[in-house]
Amino acid sequence: MKALKAGNVLVAGILLATLFLAGCLRTESGPKACALDAKICPDGTAVGRMGPDCEFAPCPNASVAQPNVPNASQANQSVACGYCQYPENGSCVSYQCCADADCGANSSCSGHRCTLRQGCRYGNPPCGENEECANNACALRKGCAYGNPPCPANASCSNNACVLKSGCQYGNPSCGANYDCIGNGCVLKQGCAYWNPGCDADHDCIANQCVLKAGCQYGNPKCDTNLYCVNNQCVNKQCVVPSGLADYSVNISGEGNSSAIYDARTVPGSPIRVVCQDPCPVSDLLLNRKYAALEKSVGDLTSITGTAFVGKYTPIDFHYTSDNVCGDYKPGDTGYYAHGADGRGYACLFFHEKSSLVAPFDENNACRQAGTLLEVHEATHALFDDTDVSYWIQENFAKTLSFYIGGYYKGGDADSDSSFVFGMSACDQRMKPYAPLSYELCRLYGIDVSSYRKAFTRMDSMRSSGQVVNDHDFKSILDGIAGQDTSQAFINANVTLVT
Ligand SMILES: [Zn+2]
Repeated sequence: MKALKAGNVLVAGILLATLFLAGCLRTESGPKACALDAKICPDGTAVGRMGPDCEFAPCPNASVAQPNVPNASQANQSVACGYCQYPENGSCVSYQCCADADCGANSSCSGHRCTLRQGCRYGNPPCGENEECANNACALRKGCAYGNPPCPANASCSNNACVLKSGCQYGNPSCGANYDCIGNGCVLKQGCAYWNPGCDADHDCIANQCVLKAGCQYGNPKCDTNLYCVNNQCVNKQCVVPSGLADYSVNISGEGNSSAIYDARTVPGSPIRVVCQDPCPVSDLLLNRKYAALEKSVGDLTSITGTAFVGKYTPIDFHYTSDNVCGDYKPGDTGYYAHGADGRGYACLFFHEKSSLVAPFDENNACRQAGTLLEVHEATHALFDDTDVSYWIQENFAKTLSFYIGGYYKGGDADSDSSFVFGMSACDQRMKPYAPLSYELCRLYGIDVSSYRKAFTRMDSMRSSGQVVNDHDFKSILDGIAGQDTSQAFINANVTLVT
């Protein structure tokens, strides 16, 4: 302790000497040299000159406020220092600071030392990467990138914003009504309602299922072997309408040369035509089928007889209703064949008006050869065109051939072909009341239907050569076929030769 005291006295002496020599050398601003003399204050301390005017600093006991002058140790109070300095061992030592203003904006003065202020504003401590400094406090940054707030499950964070994820799972975009969302992709729904797969032509899509269409066209059900499938319906095989059937309007002159528009149908080149005056009361389907059956029956007739209609009378029109050519139907009328105003042949049948037909005139029966009895009859008369063969002879052949082709009704269910006898022999007893001459020619001379081809072709040959065949000529033909005189047949049948 003694040594330390002795040292202190020595240091104080040196400091004092220095003050006398140099005064305060440490100043805040640019130094300005003052005289180095000192003033001894009443308490024995010395003060030097200072300030811009190099005045003596006030004595320590003077009532001068020294707010910015730090306390100095008792030992050094004799040294006067500038702002923010303190005397130490006879020298002025600068403090780091005396007020916050000395430390800059980011620090405060505490214990004469500048200390970094607390808080993120001063980087003390700094905020984390995901934080921002607000009101000197670190707060999580806003936005999904910082999970503040996080995006919902159906959104993703892009550029710090929540963006709806892509794909139908997120409704972005949604799938159309025909699609399911599978694995976040729109997948076409299964089933024919969505054409995935569609049904083929034979199936309809019903309740999203392919269902076989109804009708014979699709084998649902199939037609019996005696039926054809036409327009998806099972119909009698004779109902198949010729593919070339043409349906057109034509003007036909009738009695008194009055003309009317007719719905006509035929296959081009055919010798027959079905006509119906407009407005036609009969359905197209019925007429189409009637044409089909008629063509078949007339084909059979010309085949059996080996003879065609005389060309100038064709196409021969078949009228099924009352019209301006046939006139009005009168009860009891059967039908007839004649030549029209334009020279062609025509047959009036009145099927539409008749209520007593064995097989009613309807779309089903129209197909049947069983319904063509009267047509074949009148067509047979047409085969005698341009001859003088008389009515009763013609009538016998017309009856025989029409029964043969159109069927002899033996009673029973007229809807069934089994109620008809087709291909009936002229020798059949049932033929006698209708065609007695045919019956006798067959019975006496064996001239059955199979021999008619000879008779008609010979007649046609004579006609073609310009001869007008009369009753005697025709009997001569029959004599030739029989190989003997057939007079007895005519006598038995009460048929006289008129021409
Ligand atoms: Zn007749």
